[in-house]
Amino acid sequence: MKTRKLMLGNEAIAQGLAENGCRVATSYPGTPASEILPALADLKNETGVPAHVQWAVNEKVAFEIAYAASITGLRSAVSMKQVGLNVASDPLMSAAYMGTRGGFVIISADDPGPHSSQTEQDSRLMAMMAKIPVLDPDSPAQAKDMTALAYDISETFQIPVMLRPTTRVCHSRQDIQAGPVPLADAKADFKKDPTRWAATPKFRYQLHKQLETKLNDIAEFEKTAPVRLNPEVVSSKAVVTSGVCAAYVREVMQDSGLMEKISLYQVLQPYPLHLRFMEELVQHHEDVLVIEETDPVIEMQLADRHRVKGKLNGVVPGVGELLPERILEIIGGFAGVEVPSVRLPDVPGRRPTLCAGCPHRASFFAIKRAVPKGIYTGDIGCYTLGLNLGAVDTVLCMGAAISQAAGFYHAYKDQPDPPDVVATIGDSTFFHAGIPALVDAVVQNVRFVLVILDNSTTAMTGNQPTPASGIGACGESLTTVDIDAVVRGCGVRFCREADPYQLDALTGLLKEAVSYARENGPAVIISKHPCLIHRRGAARDVVSVPVAVTDACDGCGYCIRHFECPALVLKGDSGRVTIDPMACSQCGVCIHVCPKHALIEQKNN
Ligand code: SF4
Ligand code: SF4
Repeated sequence: MKTRKLMLGNEAIAQGLAENGCRVATSYPGTPASEILPALADLKNETGVPAHVQWAVNEKVAFEIAYAASITGLRSAVSMKQVGLNVASDPLMSAAYMGTRGGFVIISADDPGPHSSQTEQDSRLMAMMAKIPVLDPDSPAQAKDMTALAYDISETFQIPVMLRPTTRVCHSRQDIQAGPVPLADAKADFKKDPTRWAATPKFRYQLHKQLETKLNDIAEFEKTAPVRLNPEVVSSKAVVTSGVCAAYVREVMQDSGLMEKISLYQVLQPYPLHLRFMEELVQHHEDVLVIEETDPVIEMQLADRHRVKGKLNGVVPGVGELLPERILEIIGGFAGVEVPSVRLPDVPGRRPTLCAGCPHRASFFAIKRAVPKGIYTGDIGCYTLGLNLGAVDTVLCMGAAISQAAGFYHAYKDQPDPPDVVATIGDSTFFHAGIPALVDAVVQNVRFVLVILDNSTTAMTGNQPTPASGIGACGESLTTVDIDAVVRGCGVRFCREADPYQLDALTGLLKEAVSYARENGPAVIISKHPCLIHRRGAARDVVSVPVAVTDACDGCGYCIRHFECPALVLKGDSGRVTIDPMACSQCGVCIHVCPKHALIEQKNN
């Protein structure tokens, strides 16, 4: 039975995977891709489709699991965000050479802007480097349709195919036709062929030659040829676009009357670009404008540079999102017509901050108090916001808090009075990329303190489970992996647990850990308290401590500057702090923050 549903772009992708018989789907959470796997897990639970759906410990592992399923002949998929693809780039490059049997779709969601990422990188360039085709959807509906197309290309040419939605596609909603999900069990059937699946360098050379042939064939594949959106128009000028920019360009050209004047092409497959399209473009048009996010992937493949305008000659901005108002200006300039200038109202921004009652805030406060002159290496997660509290000095990529701590230690170790180094990393990030770095730090006897901020979930991307949670993507029970045991297994001899809400005890433990590390090597503290917004987590069992502000408060603002709980508000007229009852989670930690003891536990509440 077919039904229409208002779907998020990521739900539409999950629907497309399910409808097209995906039997193994894996992911590591990362915005804007995080909702794909939960939507697929819901479909599995609703329909009973015999698929394996799982969160993996990181993107490389996720990729390798899904890829192995594809070489048994099953259809599979792996999803991640663009920086996650960096982690999975090692198997990606090899998988392109060896190819697939069952269709294999790699969904890498890009974040132009960037709204919640370290970089704006364009996954289409990674596809180009790996030499695999990439599809660029302009909407949730097209993203769903492209999953079918991706499986078609993947199985026709035996090659992994990338689907590259961007934030606006992933997180917009559209009324979409949901089709039936096939329930028949597909059978895995691995045919041993070491020259392909375990190819040595001699065979890899042959595989590379085969891959080049496949790419030439894909560049002529009719189903992914660019679409001419106004074939009736004859013009010496042409606009070429792809992805969500295609949706904006269509709208802008329709609204400004340029749709009847300038040729418009939508590229569905930015790499490899269709050979005939490239020829036609230069044969029929004098002037070509390319509008794409984020890097000039289409533009670079158009060899006749003097006819092409885009990012490479500065006509189109090379950084940031391309929003409709900017696209209108660019196309107006290209067409040589006056277009109305659209100015959106300035909305005052709000600095991102940790939630009221977030246990990480307490951990950072304790670190600053215990090691005020330390170097603080940070990592990727909500707790990156520890930089607002002056407790994060560096953020590079997943797991780098530990390796950068080692780098600082080695850089300073021969100087008199080397600084103490305190690294912070979340529980999920520790499993993702922290363990190898910790092993290295133990081997090299790096003198530093690692604080694992364990809130029992992957909070920043929507509370996905960690290996310590004991729960799977579909709600099933799984084996747990104990962080303390892993840390000790890595060879760390000082490993203690503390509750960050017990601020004084944690501060004391941190001082002890620093003393230990100076003399002996790595010391680890697991600062454990559940995330407050994790509905399935243990937060609901936490005791409430309501706080009252007494007359001892003189409005010095220390708690606001150094602790920054959004529930603490300094009102100019009252001359003292007040607590916003709508925001306060009654964690009670601020009681231990005020140096004048003006905040006390409110009895008889
Ligand atoms: S509660 Fe304490 S730290 Fe905060 S403004 Fe009042 S006196 Fe200062
Ligand atoms: S008790 Fe204090 S620290 Fe906790 S949320 Fe309320 S105001 Fe913030």
